[in-house]
Amino acid sequence: MAVKEREFPIRIHQNNALLKRIRKNHEVRPRVESDLKNIAAGYKGEKTVDYHLGYLEDKKYSIFHNIRLQVGSQYFQIDTLIITTCYIVIIEVKNLAGIIRIDPQIRQCTRILNDTQEGFIDPISQVEKSTLLFKKWLSQHGFQTTSIEFLVVISNPQTTIDYTMRPAPHSQYTKIIHSQNILQYVTTLNNKYNNEVMTSKEVQKLKKMLLKKHSVLLSNILDIYGLTRNEILTGVLCERCNNVSPLTRISNYWTCFQCSYKSKTAHIQALDDYFLLMDDRITNRTLREFLHIPSRNTATYMLKSLNLKSSGSGKGIYYYK
Ligand SMILES: [Zn+2]
Repeated sequence: MAVKEREFPIRIHQNNALLKRIRKNHEVRPRVESDLKNIAAGYKGEKTVDYHLGYLEDKKYSIFHNIRLQVGSQYFQIDTLIITTCYIVIIEVKNLAGIIRIDPQIRQCTRILNDTQEGFIDPISQVEKSTLLFKKWLSQHGFQTTSIEFLVVISNPQTTIDYTMRPAPHSQYTKIIHSQNILQYVTTLNNKYNNEVMTSKEVQKLKKMLLKKHSVLLSNILDIYGLTRNEILTGVLCERCNNVSPLTRISNYWTCFQCSYKSKTAHIQALDDYFLLMDDRITNRTLREFLHIPSRNTATYMLKSLNLKSSGSGKGIYYYK
């Protein structure tokens, strides 16, 4: 088992919530949908790589999935990090279907899919940058920075890697491999690095530090798509039909006038949407506005029953997850 498992991407929840809460014909909708597809595919690809790495023994390999660290004011993310006492590997996972054509000389990458060609960021340059930042991070926290390798893993087994010219034997471009070859690559590293550069105690210290310093990225989704709060549909939405008019609360039941759906708890989903899209905190007043409920007491009751944390006092009290 990995030291840090990969979390389900919060962006998937955010984009799904956004699709429910913007107008059907909103100009941003295609972008939100296509981003959602890409993020979901990326996550699926990363899980494929995780599956292969699951065969490595826990005692020797400490594996971290999706770790996000800070150096100065800059954040960087590592898809997968493997730590042993002899070496460290930084892995960048790419989930690209079709043919990827790489020109190592000019560092140009093109993806060919269904007769269309599009360029994409050179994954080697990308992983080189993360490696540089990770070395800086290690040195800032008093860890050694030698025997650090990187790797680009293509997660889709059907993807063809096509070089315009064979990379030289020591070129960084030999470090692009298919996920099914990852264990074999680890064996190569075990042969290459057979001297300990860290004691087990130092590895333990590094593991603890990584878990402590990892920071989850919570994107401001409205900023990403250039949306204002007014463009987000408020109210409790029907889970059963496509009614865009919010449900009405009648004797403690959220009721849909279109399909007669009734629910006592439909506001929980609406509040989740609020936290995903609008803000990481909510007051009694913003809750009433978002859920369309007039009563302050009902809102207080709901906030209390959700076991949220709270801060502040009186009318300034706010709640957060
Ligand atoms: Zn309905």
